[in-house]
Amino acid sequence: MIPKVYSSDDFESKFTYSGDDLGARWSPEKTAFRLWAPTASKAGLRLYKSGNINEKSPYLEIPMKEDIKGTWVAEVSGNLNGAFYTFFVIIDGEEREACDPYARAVGLNGERAMVIDLSATNPEGWENDEGVFYDKCITDAVIYEMHVRDLSSDENSGIEHKGKFLGVCESGRKTPGGKSTGMDHIKELGITHVHLLPSFDYGSVDESKPDGEQYNWGYDPMNFNVPEGSYATSAEDGAVRIKEMKQMVKTLHENKLGVVMDMVYNHVYKTEEFCLNKLVPGYFSRTDENGKYSAGSGCGNDTASERSMVKKYIVDSVKYWADEYHIDGFRFDLSGLLDVATMNEITRVVHGEHPNIIFYCEGWMMDTHVTKPIVELAHQYNSEKMPGCSFFSDTVRDALRGRSFGEEGSGFITGGGFESVLKKCFFGMPDWCKNPAKSINYVSCHDGLTLFDKIGAAVPDADFAEKVKRNNLAAAFYILAQGVPLMLAGEEMLRVKHHPDGKAEHNSYNCPDELNSIKWLDLEKPEYGKVFDYYKGLIAFRKAHGALRLRNAQDVCSHITIIEDTKPNTLAFHIWGNINGETAEAIYVIYNANKTEEEFELPIGNWHICIDGETAGTDILYSVEGKITVPALSAVVMIK
Ligand code: CA
Repeated sequence: MIPKVYSSDDFESKFTYSGDDLGARWSPEKTAFRLWAPTASKAGLRLYKSGNINEKSPYLEIPMKEDIKGTWVAEVSGNLNGAFYTFFVIIDGEEREACDPYARAVGLNGERAMVIDLSATNPEGWENDEGVFYDKCITDAVIYEMHVRDLSSDENSGIEHKGKFLGVCESGRKTPGGKSTGMDHIKELGITHVHLLPSFDYGSVDESKPDGEQYNWGYDPMNFNVPEGSYATSAEDGAVRIKEMKQMVKTLHENKLGVVMDMVYNHVYKTEEFCLNKLVPGYFSRTDENGKYSAGSGCGNDTASERSMVKKYIVDSVKYWADEYHIDGFRFDLSGLLDVATMNEITRVVHGEHPNIIFYCEGWMMDTHVTKPIVELAHQYNSEKMPGCSFFSDTVRDALRGRSFGEEGSGFITGGGFESVLKKCFFGMPDWCKNPAKSINYVSCHDGLTLFDKIGAAVPDADFAEKVKRNNLAAAFYILAQGVPLMLAGEEMLRVKHHPDGKAEHNSYNCPDELNSIKWLDLEKPEYGKVFDYYKGLIAFRKAHGALRLRNAQDVCSHITIIEDTKPNTLAFHIWGNINGETAEAIYVIYNANKTEEEFELPIGNWHICIDGETAGTDILYSVEGKITVPALSAVVMIK
């Protein structure tokens, strides 16, 4: 059975190709093609005028010549920029035609690759474009997780290119009442990185249909090295999506915002339709002893990252986005299905040229049929084995808001408890993690109910003001904790995802824009604007105090004291000392999740309150000595 052979030492030593010229390499005089297809008896190249597979006749078909390590080569003279192409192979007498796995440009719906002169896709000034995160540590990042469509699709966004890459980087856009929206809003919030939900070419949105008719998060990869067509103003001309994504990155960089891509290497859209699985049957995906595809992701297939040419494919892909698109960070979807060696190779190779790129993983532990005897999987419990990667902390999420994506369960902010877990989380070191730079702290992301919907489910009888207090208590915890804060776009304005009947949706992956969009008009309501200001203040406070952004466990343990024996459902921390060579810090943080006010003794001295349950920032609100009364359901943060 072939799939087992693919993972054998013999196969790997014969057929591991290490060159950097797979796919199509354009020059004005000729284009060189190289395909890896070691099980084919013949291979060939077809050139087409159109990227649309309904236009069936190629204008040129040539055989490819067998070359080293299972690769096949061909060359076509002339300037092929803009020509569409496919590869075909003969295996067991059967022909299989597919898009180039290394396609850098594609036509409509990613069915055919396109030869591309990449330098012609660069926006003006691209050679001077730079990332925004030099000499910084991931703990200096504040990450905003966002779907390209959600930012602009609402009718009140004021954004011209709704649902598009170009809509992400429009400036000067406002609500009818004059509140900044889109990129200006994000800048004002103060985050450092915009993390885009899948923006590579995915399959679940038909790019030929009118804009806005369909919606998907995009966790269904077709072409890993090409931007998604439905986010471009034209999906047919393969150059347009590339140009517009680069333009977006450049404009975000000019506005001091980094760009993180959510990469879904752990599975593909349709197992046997995936180009690499067509050209080298079943090579990309794991199968069990009976030849059945392993599907730990629940998406029909798991990627066999332990195979040498899958590993190379993933490493090459991340490096390509970093080199060609100047991407500042990568989030790996369900990395628990990938392997430790692949993750380490990615960070080693990419950090070699781009030391400031950040890497973090959704590292849940999952069941999968690995295809080699010893494969260590890249989940959070192996975080110590992956020095270059950080991991989502479901620990802090669940302790603050309650387990489960749905309505069940409550946490510290909606009923109290979980103090012992949260003490570790405030240090950025939940049980699976020994280093604060590895903990991505969050309380809402695209998965599950939004924070405000989750609060609504846990305390249905609470009035709006009480729910806001609970929301702000959660924010004051995870944004100020050691580690790296990450938030769902719109959390700062109490985002909800409601069906027309008012029911909250916890899995909105294919719901319409009306449910998923950020509702900009909310910002015009004072009670929402106040929450936005609160988040802005928390982020500003975090940025102003290096003591909240420590880079290793030793610093955390030597500079933070947990105040023990406080009342149930409360937490207090004292952060102090000379940190990172900056002036001496003394910060005192108290969280009260009780529905009653609580009194706390303070260390000796005059303490200046910068953050309470309603206001946050770097300015001093008032000062106290000796003790402080902390109102119900609120945080207080003071400096000396
Ligand atoms: Ca697509």
